[in-house]
Amino acid sequence: MAAKEEDLVVARPEGLYCPPGDFYIDPWRPVARAVITHAHSDHARMGHAHYLAHTDSAGTLRTRLGSDIALQTLGYGEAIEHHGVRVSLHPAGHVLGSAQVRLEHGGRVWVASGDYKTEPDGTCMPFEPVPCDTFITESTFGLPIYRWPTQAALFAEIDAWWRANAEAGRASVLFCYAFGKAQRILHGVDASIGPIVVHGAVEPLNAVYRAAGVALPETLRVTDPGVDAALLKRALVLAPPSAQGTPWMRRFGNYADAFASGWMQLRGTRRRRGVDRGFVMSDHADWPGLQQAIAGTGASRVFVTHGSVAVMVRWLTENGLDAQGFKTEYGDEDDQGQGAATP
Ligand SMILES: [Zn+2]
Ligand SMILES: [Zn+2]
Repeated sequence: MAAKEEDLVVARPEGLYCPPGDFYIDPWRPVARAVITHAHSDHARMGHAHYLAHTDSAGTLRTRLGSDIALQTLGYGEAIEHHGVRVSLHPAGHVLGSAQVRLEHGGRVWVASGDYKTEPDGTCMPFEPVPCDTFITESTFGLPIYRWPTQAALFAEIDAWWRANAEAGRASVLFCYAFGKAQRILHGVDASIGPIVVHGAVEPLNAVYRAAGVALPETLRVTDPGVDAALLKRALVLAPPSAQGTPWMRRFGNYADAFASGWMQLRGTRRRRGVDRGFVMSDHADWPGLQQAIAGTGASRVFVTHGSVAVMVRWLTENGLDAQGFKTEYGDEDDQGQGAATP
């Protein structure tokens, strides 16, 4: 199946391109006009002349790409018209400010999802199905083995692990991606168990979430007054995966460690990370979530951008949809790790 002349989004070397609107969605090469679904580094790159994103993405985009970027923002459901294409942003439930991009032109409606998660987590607006003819979906965890525990089950597990470590007098170091995952953990844990200490890569993102009105418990830095060996023995410590094995870890003495990622569903991954525990937690939809989201749009045509593209395309085709892959340069933030190596 080839691209059709009237397609509202086509794959170009620079990224996903809207021909009638003359703009790109999450382009990976510098372009004149970029619509950004969210501020993760594989979707929000440097060097575009003009950015359009959700209002709640302004903080993270400016933190990461510079305060001087030419940024225009929209609220959810708010629309603008550009070269006759009506553009609006809708909640994707992935991270703060994450949006699906709805394009309407000549009676057709396309939605590009960026990254999304269907279960609400309290740190961003929950995913909203947007009716469309053509849906562009991610497929990071597009295999039937991926099924996430509920938020309640996940946090009961994390709290029990932290509580047991605190009672045994050792720090609980939880490695997690600094933007999105860390704030979700902060929002969800039982902060009465003990103090919470965060790595220097995590705190600037906490500030952006707090400024957007997301409730996060008090967090300490290791350099804060009062943070001593006794306090650390009861603490939950959140650090990016890149902190693993660095001198920063030495201060925690005999600690327990864990990794929070969707990849933890695979036992081999857990072993490769070399941690005591794995918590199955992702800001992306699991297999049932992807199916539910795609069905919820009512789209008859689906493009799959990243993850398990071949499996998802086959599954959709077998279910009577017109599906194909789009080659992109998006990845999974949990596999990047190195992006947040500030001490
Ligand atoms: Zn993302
Ligand atoms: Zn992605």
